[in-house]
Amino acid sequence: MNLKILLLPGDGIGTEVTAAAVDVLKTVGKKFGHTLELSEGLLGGVAIHKTGTPFPKDTEELCLKADATLMGAVGLPEFDTAPPSQRPEAGLLGIRRVLDVFANLRPVRTWKALVDSSPLKNHVVEGTDMIIVRELTGGLYYGQPRGIENDRAFNTMSYTRQEVERVTHTAFKLAGNRRKKVTSVDKSNVLEVSQFWRKVVVDVAQQYPDIQLEHMLVDNAAMQMVLNPRQFDVMLTENTFGDILSDVGGILAGSIGMLPSASLGMKKGLYEPVHGSAPDIAGQNKANPLGAIGSVAAMLEYTFGLNKEAAAVNDAIGKVLESGRVTADLRPKGSPATTQEVGKAVSEAI
Ligand code: NAD
Repeated sequence: MNLKILLLPGDGIGTEVTAAAVDVLKTVGKKFGHTLELSEGLLGGVAIHKTGTPFPKDTEELCLKADATLMGAVGLPEFDTAPPSQRPEAGLLGIRRVLDVFANLRPVRTWKALVDSSPLKNHVVEGTDMIIVRELTGGLYYGQPRGIENDRAFNTMSYTRQEVERVTHTAFKLAGNRRKKVTSVDKSNVLEVSQFWRKVVVDVAQQYPDIQLEHMLVDNAAMQMVLNPRQFDVMLTENTFGDILSDVGGILAGSIGMLPSASLGMKKGLYEPVHGSAPDIAGQNKANPLGAIGSVAAMLEYTFGLNKEAAAVNDAIGKVLESGRVTADLRPKGSPATTQEVGKAVSEAI
């Protein structure tokens, strides 16, 4: 199979973890006989430096030509006080909009070898295996009007029926291949948008009679994720709530560096680790590349339908974790491994 993939390493540790993930991709290509057609583009702070904009036209064209895009992370501290539209993160919102990837899948699982790395007690995190489905192209982050006046600032949270329906279908279809339970998270005791969200989810659920649906308020959901994460199978939620809850997922998985993500639309897929550019450890070969490598596994499965290859990558991640040669964020017993070493170890395990 020919895999046409755009690489957008971005800023900070984005470049380091993407390099490790690409090595793994090349190993899969060699071992399973697939050809890789890789292109590379600019996104985020590096794109602002070189072209003056976080999401250049060239990158837009490249991502529309590729079957899938693998992104590192964006964000540089020098832009911290810039207006939102001129920050590296605007590139992220731009590419999500152009690819129309409305469903962000964030698998959260506790790997056996990492139970001790979680700051939570073993009996709480053991056996966690959930997936957060976050709506990605609507809600507060895109709503109009938005702005800052002298003594007032405002954003708009809004959802259309179609926006809620399509992401709800994604969640229910996923649940059908898993433990058949969807927890829809909202704030319907306060927000009209959430009341509407709940109503549409209930409507869509009629088409999936074998899937159990429950509703949970977002504040309770944050608490339940650390009290009893095993109760969740598929968690469905809107953009802002999903952004926040998926960082709680980082605690369950041992480190935010472990978390992969897949953003899916009708055709194209965008894959990236959940973490940011981590300026505090950038350029030090310390970053955990397993979230980026897990994103490669997700790409092989969701965009290319290569389930055997995806399983090989995930099994290799498990083996590397068992071996204990992991980066500092996972608090290994001996001296920590570097980003490159972990990437190489995954390739060898494949
Ligand atoms: P962050 O995820 O970059 O870092 C949070 C903490 O987790 C830091 O202590 C960091 O060292 C650690 N960490 C993150 N990834 C790691 C990894 N792979 N291995 C080991 N440790 C890791 O979040 P932040 O500090 O809030 O944001 C930094 C910049 O990244 C900001 O500019 C922010 O806007 C941006 N950001 C980008 C994305 C993205 O590109 N998708 C996501 C979140 C934040």
